[in-house]
Amino acid sequence: MRWTALLAVVAASAAAQTVADAKKFLDDAETRLLALTTEASHADWIRENFITYDSETLSAAVDERQIAEGVRLAKAAVRFDHVKLPPDMARKMMLLKLGLTLAAPSDAAESAEVTQLAAKLDGLYGKGKYCPDDKKPCMDIEAITRVMATSTDPKELLDAWTGWHTISLGMRRDFSRFVTLSNKGARELGFKDTGAMWRAKYDMPPDDFAKELDRLWEQVRPLYNSLHAYVRWKLREKYGDTVPANGPIPAHLLGNIWAQDWTNIYKLVAPADADPGYDLTEILKSRNTDHLGMVHYGENFFKSLGFATLPSTFWERSLFVKPHDRDVVCHASAWDIDSVEDLRLKMCIDITGEDFYTIHHELGHNFYQRAYDKQPFLFRDSANDGFHEAIGDTIALSITPAYLVKLGFISKEPDASKDIGLLLNRALEKIAFLPFGLLIDEWRWKVFSGEIPAEKYNEAWWQLRLKYQGVAPPSSRGDEFFDPGAKYHVPANVPYTRYFLADILQFQFHRALSQIAGCKEPLNRCSIYQNQEAGRRLNAMLEMGVSKPWQDALYTLTGQRQMDATAIRDYFAPLQKWLDQQNRGKPVGW
Ligand SMILES: [Zn+2]
Repeated sequence: MRWTALLAVVAASAAAQTVADAKKFLDDAETRLLALTTEASHADWIRENFITYDSETLSAAVDERQIAEGVRLAKAAVRFDHVKLPPDMARKMMLLKLGLTLAAPSDAAESAEVTQLAAKLDGLYGKGKYCPDDKKPCMDIEAITRVMATSTDPKELLDAWTGWHTISLGMRRDFSRFVTLSNKGARELGFKDTGAMWRAKYDMPPDDFAKELDRLWEQVRPLYNSLHAYVRWKLREKYGDTVPANGPIPAHLLGNIWAQDWTNIYKLVAPADADPGYDLTEILKSRNTDHLGMVHYGENFFKSLGFATLPSTFWERSLFVKPHDRDVVCHASAWDIDSVEDLRLKMCIDITGEDFYTIHHELGHNFYQRAYDKQPFLFRDSANDGFHEAIGDTIALSITPAYLVKLGFISKEPDASKDIGLLLNRALEKIAFLPFGLLIDEWRWKVFSGEIPAEKYNEAWWQLRLKYQGVAPPSSRGDEFFDPGAKYHVPANVPYTRYFLADILQFQFHRALSQIAGCKEPLNRCSIYQNQEAGRRLNAMLEMGVSKPWQDALYTLTGQRQMDATAIRDYFAPLQKWLDQQNRGKPVGW
């Protein structure tokens, strides 16, 4: 009886909605969200630059209000579902509904429970430490990361790996309840489950998007298999029978706790004549480059493409140097405080080659933010969530030896035979990552849909890691363990597919921009530095923000409407050839 009455009321109010009502609703929503986002950014900035109890309390309070308003607007937008809206307004309604990562159910008790579970899981990870039995100090993720990156003692690596995977032992039951409740909230918004809600953000039917990822993976898989085979036999030379001749690689030997980035084992697999003949860190130091100088190199890259200089407030308000007298979050990040002109970089810069790359990457975010600042608030974001990360990395791909020659860092380019070292190093980062970037959400989507039940969480996790990465756990991992929980993004409920997309897109962007710039060399030698036409085409894509489907944005720059991993194969073609020679007569695959 009550249900019928309630439904009648909802139907009546839906029928009464007009386009004018929708416009007023959207205008109000944009005004409120802009104000809340700006306030939250100021508070978050203070919290990350002055980590204290009070700054955390204040920023948590405004973050909570911002999230609550997002949920309220997403649910309120549903009442315009049956109003025929002009495309711009329909897109804004869609973005409002898709802005959530977690949709809390409308039942107040369940809503409180799911938010508490999310905070608890996040906290369990954040406090996660491995405390060895003996008198050794407990190890947090930084300490674990250091061991995984630097040790070549298999016993020590095994101990660190096994130890870190104890932090998630207590998460499984909470995670399973979290899945149930977040699915309930997603269904109230009209999605099949939370995974379907995440996949719906990509301007195509959710199931088509999953197929699209598989297609991209198939394009790049042969290169991954070659890299895997080469690394496996080099590790077998080092560690003996611990590494099988033709099976999966043990997950603790790849220089990273999740085996997602293999750059730390470069020295174990480097070709004998790999040295490109220069060391960027040494060059920067010998030139007495300071922190400001490092950032100016990044800004000058964008200026050389025709972008305007950064505002004076960028230089006044950014953090470049690690303070001596207080705790700050040093993890590099690019900020857009007022969503218009108050751009900032927060980074504890070291004068190293690595940070030279990172600055180019971070400024990619800032110049993207400024390019779309004329859009209405809801459209001030990247075309899809993979684009934002991809832009910075695209620019970093242009840090070639030729670019360093133009900066006067080196007198001439090393010859092409030295490219293999640079390419192998880059492949250990970018190619090794791809299967990992894919499988995290493949696992999670199946968990949310119920295809993977709670008692099979761990078994399914390792099946996917075997299938995609060709890695195996160093010891038997039954379902008493919850190994996905040892990766931040799972307990923190952060979608992961964006990183896979960014890894694919950056090479597609780089190839398109190199062609526009008229580069005739192999793709890995192309830099778009000083090419204003490339800058103009890049900007044309960036300034669209998320106002149009990402396919339109992609087309604007590349002339393609589909993501295309063949650009990766082009970029790494010299390495593929070299790997094929090295792998001759050796097993490939697992
Ligand atoms: Zn980034």
